Amino acid sequence: MTSRNHLLFEQSQQYIPGGVNSPVRAFKSVGGEPVFFQRGEGAYFWDADGKSYIDYVGSWGPLILGHAHPEVVKAVQNAAQKGLTFGAPTEAELEIAQLICQLIPSIEQVRLVSSGTEAGMSVIRLARGFTGRSKIIKFEGCYHGHDDSLLVKAGSGALTFGNPSSAGVPAETAGHTIVLDYNDIAGIEAAFNQWGKEIAAVIVEPVAGNMNLIAPQADFLTKLRELCTQNGSVLIFDEVMTGFRVGLGCAQGLYQIKPDLTALGKVIGGGMPMAAFGGRRDIMQCLAPLGPVYQAGTLSGNPVAVAAGLATLKLIQAPGFYEKLSNRTQQLIDGIATKAKNHGIDFCAQSIGGMFGLYFSKNIPTSFAEVMQCDKSAFNRFFHAMLEEGIYFAPSAFEAGFVSSVHGDNELDKTLSAAEKIFGNW
Ligand SMILES: *Cc1c(COP(=O)(O)O)cnc(C)c1O
Repeated sequence: MTSRNHLLFEQSQQYIPGGVNSPVRAFKSVGGEPVFFQRGEGAYFWDADGKSYIDYVGSWGPLILGHAHPEVVKAVQNAAQKGLTFGAPTEAELEIAQLICQLIPSIEQVRLVSSGTEAGMSVIRLARGFTGRSKIIKFEGCYHGHDDSLLVKAGSGALTFGNPSSAGVPAETAGHTIVLDYNDIAGIEAAFNQWGKEIAAVIVEPVAGNMNLIAPQADFLTKLRELCTQNGSVLIFDEVMTGFRVGLGCAQGLYQIKPDLTALGKVIGGGMPMAAFGGRRDIMQCLAPLGPVYQAGTLSGNPVAVAAGLATLKLIQAPGFYEKLSNRTQQLIDGIATKAKNHGIDFCAQSIGGMFGLYFSKNIPTSFAEVMQCDKSAFNRFFHAMLEEGIYFAPSAFEAGFVSSVHGDNELDKTLSAAEKIFGNW
């Protein structure tokens, strides 16, 4: 059978490396061919062959209101009619900046950019410019976009500098990055003992979502805050994924930790290419045109993207929005876990707000090393069986999943029935 999906993938591979514009889309991790999508509405989207799926990826996080939310679409249409871009300030940028500062108290000033990668790259440069230091600490398995200094994996020893995790990143660049294990408090203490006053910044996903979901253990974030404060290093929360996903106050509100700088993306763009970074006024004022740290963008604060972001940020402030989203997400993962358990499968799951992790393992992992021990082939089998049933999870065992506000009882029932069928035949 020649499906249109198949045809499109064949042709795309001729013109686009790997047929995709971002590598995880290619299904390399789970095998098989990627699905091409044509249309989305609410909790569903439809592929090029007309098959529908319940979507638990939500474009990797942004679609907290589901696909094509009417109010977001209307805001985008209205903005587009007035002009697609000006390359000059607009009132809507002021409005969204005020709203971000109001919703996230650690952010006194904010700048808009077009992607999470730009936000990550900019906070690192800003932290280095502010402190006059070069070294940064990141954690194995956390992703902060594809800036050179962040595409770094652990070196050969515990306290050695990192190695590039991509070709094309100079060893000298990676050599300024120290890579530690997530949740490893002794590791952080040792690194600060050795380099304390040379460390410009610690960048962390306060809930890790790019190695499946790894939750911060008690004291991990508190210890980072403490050591950064003691050593004059900048604490950066990369909340590109967790921002307005785990709660209205983001992860920093949930865990009551105040970072110095925060990177945002995904939900704040409402599905359009918009991201942001912000934080302490004294640090943010090091940015050009006020200070010596250069950062810019032709389409930064793009009026159409800002309109989508504003519409989204207004809707998520509805009373009970996050309680409902969290409960729905918890119901989903509890339901799947119960079915797996009933059939004797090693499986567990957890959720925080509207994001979740599914693990083919006896225990919930707490680090990159542990998550790598999960049964990847079991996940791949589960993924393809679910896909067949019209349920779309992230095409990788090492990504978090997302629920939107329009995933209702109906979608929950369909998902759990599919899980029952799949685990029953396991
Ligand atoms: C998605 C993500 C990024 C990168 O954002 P892009 O918009 O894909 O460049 C950075 N940090 C985290 C935590 C992310 O989840």
